[in-house]
Amino acid sequence: MSSFDVVIIGSGPGGYVSAIRCAQLGFKTAIVEKYNSLGGTCLNVGCIPSKALLSSSHHYAEIAHFADHGIEVSGDVKINLEKMIARKQAVVDQTVGGINYLMDKNKITVFNGLGSFVDATHIAVAKADGTSETIEAKYTVIATGSKPSSLPFIKIDKERIITSTEALALKEVPKHLVIIGGGVIGIELGQVYLRLGAQVSVVEFMDRIIPGMDSSLSKELTKVLKKQGMKFYVSHKVKSVERNGDAVVVQAENAKGETITLEGDYSLVSVGRRPYTDGLNADKAGVKISDRGQVEVNDHLQTSVPNIYAIGDVVRGAMLAHKAEEEGVMVAEILAGQKPHIDYNLIPGVVYTWPEVAAVGQTEEQLKAAGVKYKSGSFPFKALGRARASADLDGFVKILADEKTDEVLGVHMIGARTADLIAEAVTAMEFKASAEDISRMSHAHPTFAEAVKEAALAATENRALHV
Ligand code: FAD
Repeated sequence: MSSFDVVIIGSGPGGYVSAIRCAQLGFKTAIVEKYNSLGGTCLNVGCIPSKALLSSSHHYAEIAHFADHGIEVSGDVKINLEKMIARKQAVVDQTVGGINYLMDKNKITVFNGLGSFVDATHIAVAKADGTSETIEAKYTVIATGSKPSSLPFIKIDKERIITSTEALALKEVPKHLVIIGGGVIGIELGQVYLRLGAQVSVVEFMDRIIPGMDSSLSKELTKVLKKQGMKFYVSHKVKSVERNGDAVVVQAENAKGETITLEGDYSLVSVGRRPYTDGLNADKAGVKISDRGQVEVNDHLQTSVPNIYAIGDVVRGAMLAHKAEEEGVMVAEILAGQKPHIDYNLIPGVVYTWPEVAAVGQTEEQLKAAGVKYKSGSFPFKALGRARASADLDGFVKILADEKTDEVLGVHMIGARTADLIAEAVTAMEFKASAEDISRMSHAHPTFAEAVKEAALAATENRALHV
């Protein structure tokens, strides 16, 4: 029987990163993945393919503005969806290939097959050819991730009533895509198909889209997406989703009890994701699963069984690839006797629409609820020279700082390249910067990053320079 210091079950960004860090720290490491392709949700059916399609569709949408730049396109510009999807797959394949290389380079043993606990130190790997192999693990890291969730009355047929996984590989552009759930995944994929010509309607139970983020971001994103043609039905509870031939009929009710009926040819169900532990036999090892299906962990990501840890989407907290990665590294370092720490308040959240939306730290709603006295400074993108040069005028940067100490408590931005700009805010907050600290740092001109400096100036003493 093969025996390892650490066995990691699941090869998503949590699992494969943890495996690399374990190997770097000198552990004999193995990773078990039930699919042939490493990389988990993120690389195969999540972050990477969705960003590939967002990128392709963004290029297409930009053509409408070519004339403003003095670029004349003669002849028809057409979508070849099959080719667009094939390109997305090539990006995925190349990225997954990179993980295979990293496993080899770090001498990590890869087992392809479903991993399930035999007991707290043994894992059976059931392979596709029907054989099974049991391996021994001193420590195990559960990194089995998540799967799309649904509502009890919705039957996902994967043809017309679909999840994000199918939405990443459609064979035609929907005529009318009805999206159930206005969270990050629904909105990103909605913008892909909106740009490609679909009518897109979003039904959201809460009173705003991207409800986990600062409400000013929801408001601005709604405004921009409405301008682009997306339709929103917020504060609507979906009551039924039925297939009628090639049509999908969605009924939803508002707070007054009024019912709307939306008929589309596809419906994307994006109401969140659920932690995934099917087939893991966690109980055989004594690992506790919560009522919400999450593997229970303490602050050190240790489960109810001392030699078994869990990370990523399968445990509490934000379902984000970079959160999973941080936890993967943390577990490896704990096993090596180090004392790593994650500040969950500083895990940024991003929506990769255009304009991009990004945030870190506390929202205004959270600060108000906690009774924290704060100052707020905002700066609009339309006042930036760089934004005018590229006609990316939508959005703003908002900085929230403690009223007395001026420490930055939250940064919320929507606009061009904010997915990258948010890193400055994370760095500043990691070092407990004040708004004034940021406002006194030189920012290259002309850049989108100047909006961060200007918002910091506005938060410090309302002394932004360019408004
Ligand atoms: P996963 O990536 O889900 O990986 C778990 C792996 O474990 C899977 O490969 C699974 O097959 C394997 N597994 C499960 N059970 C077993 C078992 N018993 N034996 C063997 N293998 C098993 N996050 C971001 O941060 N940025 C984004 O832009 C972003 N975009 C997204 C877009 C979409 C459409 C979706 C669906 C998700 C997106 N996410 C994004 C979320 C991100 O994909 C997840 O947070 C991340 O993949 C979680 O990583 P993980 O390692 O915990 O689990």
